[in-house]
Formats: sequence, structure tokens, C-alpha cells
Amino acid sequence: MTTEKIAAINPWQVAQHQFDLAAEKLQLDEGMRRVLREPRRELTVHFPVKMDDGSVRVFTGYRVQHNLGRGPAKGGIRYHQDVSIDEVKALAMWMTWKCAVVGIPFGGGKGGVIVDPKQLSKKELEALSRRYFTEIEVLVGPEKDIPAPDVNTNAQVMSWFMDTYSMHQGYTVPGVVTGKPISLGGSEGRNEATARGTVYCIVEAARHLGIELPKAKVAIQGFGNAGAIAATLIAAEKATVVAVSDSTGGIHNPNGLDIPRVIAWKQEHGTVQGFPGAKDVTNAEVLEVECDILIPAALENQITDRNAGAIKAKLIAEAANGPTTPEADQILFKNSKFMIPDILCNAGGVTVSYFEWVQDLNRDHWTETEVNAKLKTIMVKAFSEVLAIARREQCDMRTAAYLLAVQRVADATMMRGLYP
Ligand code: NAD
Repeated sequence: MTTEKIAAINPWQVAQHQFDLAAEKLQLDEGMRRVLREPRRELTVHFPVKMDDGSVRVFTGYRVQHNLGRGPAKGGIRYHQDVSIDEVKALAMWMTWKCAVVGIPFGGGKGGVIVDPKQLSKKELEALSRRYFTEIEVLVGPEKDIPAPDVNTNAQVMSWFMDTYSMHQGYTVPGVVTGKPISLGGSEGRNEATARGTVYCIVEAARHLGIELPKAKVAIQGFGNAGAIAATLIAAEKATVVAVSDSTGGIHNPNGLDIPRVIAWKQEHGTVQGFPGAKDVTNAEVLEVECDILIPAALENQITDRNAGAIKAKLIAEAANGPTTPEADQILFKNSKFMIPDILCNAGGVTVSYFEWVQDLNRDHWTETEVNAKLKTIMVKAFSEVLAIARREQCDMRTAAYLLAVQRVADATMMRGLYP
């Protein structure tokens, strides 16, 4: 693919391109390629919300189910002004592969609403959440499609979703969403799970690469659920976090940032910028600072053919979904960068979502120690399986993860056969 083409492509084209590479390497049957290349269901909803000033606004939202071969659809719901159907389709496809890489019995789904939630009051956000969930109820359900948090959605939004669905059913259905608060059937450790899974992968990769974490410098783009918690957990491994950023920009201190203080600063000021003792930098600069480990934890298409060559980190751990374009992947591989791809690196979130769903269905509650131990077992196993394929096939880790995932989904699809 040419540079111009890559620069113009959207996440859905990236996702399909990544799939095509794996399908080619696996020599998948043409019919199977056609099936796995497209989402199974795409729902677009336009729904009204009464605003605080009495006016009515109509919002657009989506829910996409990419593949249901290995189990019900699973995937988060994103609130962002740039949400598009193609972004949701890509995220749904990535969920299919992610669930397959870690071997949990789900297919892939994703949802989103085009909205900047920072512009809404809490009352408006609740009304939007309840009405959106009502509109997508034709698809969701604890045996059919189980949403979860993603960018700009959290335990509060999941509680409104769960309550809305339960009101319509006439009884409480905790298993319809994950990422709920503990008081409503949420799992211990779910809030930290994505970042914890990322850090388990980084520990494994660092061992493989001979990077000593206490001597390592880390840069993190995005300072929300995935990014801020990854910063805390990697600092707990004695690594030095030298740069972080959020949507307003970044900060850099080559001697290290005090993460609990940065978190408190962001809570107080709504931005990481202006943090005492650090230099304000742009989001783009955070990706290029001198460091050993880079954790993109914001949005898609942040590492492209334009900046991939400038990345200094030896190890890139994709806590975000889709932060690297295929062309950037090639540059990074050529530059001997070790990539932990999103479908492996951030799979801790969906893994503990799976634990939450199992606990809800069984009316059970596990301890955090139990959750983290089970998560570690799954992440370490998936990492070593992907690494073994990368070594055997002499390929990069993303291709290896795709080979594992696509083969598992193709096997399940083949065994189920074609209905009718
Ligand atoms: P979040 O809303 O908690 O945080 C997003 C962060 O990214 C915020 O700090 C925001 O300021 C920052 N951000 C937004 N635009 C940015 C930009 N252009 N440059 C730099 N920073 C920017 O969301 P999250 O749940 O942490 O999700 C982040 C990424 O992790 C997404 O790609 C998401 O799909 C992925 N992810 C999240 C989970 C999860 O369980 N939360 C699971 C798997 C993957």
C-alpha cells in the first residue's frame, strides 16, 4: 500500500487490511475471507434527548456485531465527537480477534455515540445513555451482546445501561453490561484490568528483550482509564514515567514524573499540562521523547508513516485500540521495534469483563487476588503463544497475534458450518 493511500485510510480500512494480511498468510479459503471481512450486523440509531434548556437534540449512535462464531458479541461503547460507523466497525472486528487471542468465549462487538460528553450536564448524559441503550436493545442482552466501557464512558454510564435494560425486563439483569460498579455486580479489578493486562505483557516483553524495568523510561499517550492506571502500575514496577499526555497536550520530565501527583493535578485542573517541574509538550512530541517503552493509550492512528521513524522506544505497548497504521507497523518492524499489538496488549479489559459476566451469571463474587491471578495466567499464556508464532513465522507480533486469532475464529466458523 502506498503512503498516500495509508494517509487517507480510515480505521475500518486499517482493520480489513490487517485481516487480509493474516488471511493471506493463513491461506484462508476465499469464502471464509468474505465472511470474516465484513461485520455481521450494523445498527444505526438516531434518537432524541431533551436538553436542560428544554430544547430537543437528535443524536446518532451505532452498535456493530462483527462476528458471533465463538460466543455473544462483546465490546465497549464510546462517546466521542469523532465516532463514525467505520470506526465502530473496526473496533468491533478488533474485538473479535482480541477475544480469540486470549481464548475467551465471545465474538466481537462495539458501539458509539457521536457526542462530546463534556458539553452535557449529568442529567443530559443520563438521558442520552438511557435512550441510546433503549434503541440498541434489539441487539443487546446477556446471551447476545454485552457492552462495556470505552472512551468517555465509565461505571456510572454502565449502571444507567443496566438499569434501563432491567426496567424493560422487569427484573435486575447484571449480566447485560460489564464495567459496572462493585455494588451492582461489577468485578473486583475490572477498572484496572486493561492497564494491568498491558503491564503484564510489558513485563513479559521486557524479560524477552532484556530490558530492566527499574532502569526503563516510559512515555504514555492518553491519561484516562487505560493510560493513567498503566502509569501507576508501571511505576509500581519501578520504571520511570517521563512523559504523559491527554487530549489537551502533554508533559515531559526526563527525570521522571510523580504519577499520583500528576493524577491529582489532572483531577484539579482538568489537564496534565502546567504540572510543576515538567515541560509542556504537544501530544505528538510525547510519542517521540527519549524512552525505552511507549504506551499509546488514547485513540486510533496516532503512529503513522510520518512519525514512526522518529519513535525512540524499543518496546511499544498498544493499550489503545488501533493506534498504529499498517505502514507505520512496517517502519517500526524494520527499525527492530518490538510491538505488543492492541488485540493482545489491551485484552485484559475484556478478559476481566468476561470474569464479571461469569460472576453475574453465577451470582458469584471473586476476590481481587483471584481476579488478578486468573488475568495474569491468561495474559502470560496469550503473550507466549503469540511470541512463539512470531518466532516460528519470523514475523512481527501483530501478524502473529492475527494468525492465532483469525485461525481460531475461522476454525469455529468452519465447524459451525453455513446456515441454512
Ligand atoms: P478514557 O476516556 O478513560 O481516556 C482517554 C484518554 O485519552 C483521556 O485522557 C483523553 O484526554 C485522552 N485523549 C483523547 N484524545 C487524545 C489525543 N488526541 N491525544 C492524546 N490523548 C488523547 O478512555 P480509555 O478507556 O482509557 O480508552 C483509551 C484507549 O484504550 C482507547 O483506544 C480504548 O478503545 C482502549 N481500550 C480501553 C479499554 C477499557 O477497558 N477502558 C479496554 C481496551 C482498550
